[in-house]
Amino acid sequence: MKTIKITPRGYCHGVVNAINTISNLDTLSTKKPIYILGMVIHNKQIVDSLGHLDLITLHDETKTRLELLDEIKSGTVIFTAHGVSPQVYKKAKDKGLDIVDTTCDDVFRSQDTITEYINNGYAIIFIGKHTHPESEAAKGISNNVYIVENIKDIKKLKITNGKIALTNQTTMSIFDIYYLSEEAKKYYPNIIIIDEICNSTRIRQEALLNQDKDVDHCFVVGDKLSNNSIKLVEVSSTEAHINSTLIESVEDINIELLKKYNTVSVTSGASTPTKVTKEVIAFLEQFDKDDTSTHNNQTRITSFNLLTKKALPK
Ligand code: SF4
Repeated sequence: MKTIKITPRGYCHGVVNAINTISNLDTLSTKKPIYILGMVIHNKQIVDSLGHLDLITLHDETKTRLELLDEIKSGTVIFTAHGVSPQVYKKAKDKGLDIVDTTCDDVFRSQDTITEYINNGYAIIFIGKHTHPESEAAKGISNNVYIVENIKDIKKLKITNGKIALTNQTTMSIFDIYYLSEEAKKYYPNIIIIDEICNSTRIRQEALLNQDKDVDHCFVVGDKLSNNSIKLVEVSSTEAHINSTLIESVEDINIELLKKYNTVSVTSGASTPTKVTKEVIAFLEQFDKDDTSTHNNQTRITSFNLLTKKALPK
């Protein structure tokens, strides 16, 4: 099948840093037990593949990072690439925990910008997912940070502060920022817009907009919890007008639907292991709708061979 490989794909620098830091932890000298506050990155395959390192992942979508910290009594806590609020940092210190911080530089920069504007008397409208750790961290900077996810949220705001700035979670879509900032300007004409979408997220979205219009379907390889992957599907389907689906692995490809396509494209989220995306591409390239021997989409990736550079078994 004709398969267009959209570039860039593969890990962003923030994910590489988080995985390297954790993989290279000297577990002999690190205070035990070792906890990760949330999923190290939003990809279950990676979390599983780090299982042998004796790390305890605390993940509960109904709890904030601050609440999850209550479950740790001693040892070491790892902060994920999404960053944490000042309150989480202080609580971990007060508990006497050792801290390994893998917050992405781009998230740090965004938090510094919010802090700077807050210190200069601004209220902040922050475009982000209400339950995402980056939003929790932003909200923790000040009571004058207001999280908005959609136009309804903006309409509900009643900010009386004379100085307002708008910024965002680093993995939102360029269109979220455009549409929601245009809406915010209606209520707050003097608002300052500070676009903090990270470069890794932005260039992946821009590449989707330039897709060949003959593409019948676009596969975005990524975890269902990965916001940047979800946004790639949104941009591809809503803005590039190409039917698109999020798949976590080659096994999520619907063979019956695939038979209807002539040309497909593939991209991946910033936290998707290269091996998983490569397997999807290899399967699609060899797929022939009339030859059932090419229809077996069972994965050969396991949590043991995911992070090695070795080729997959035949
Ligand atoms: S997606 Fe962007 S902000 Fe998130 S870890 Fe990667 S580079 Fe950093």
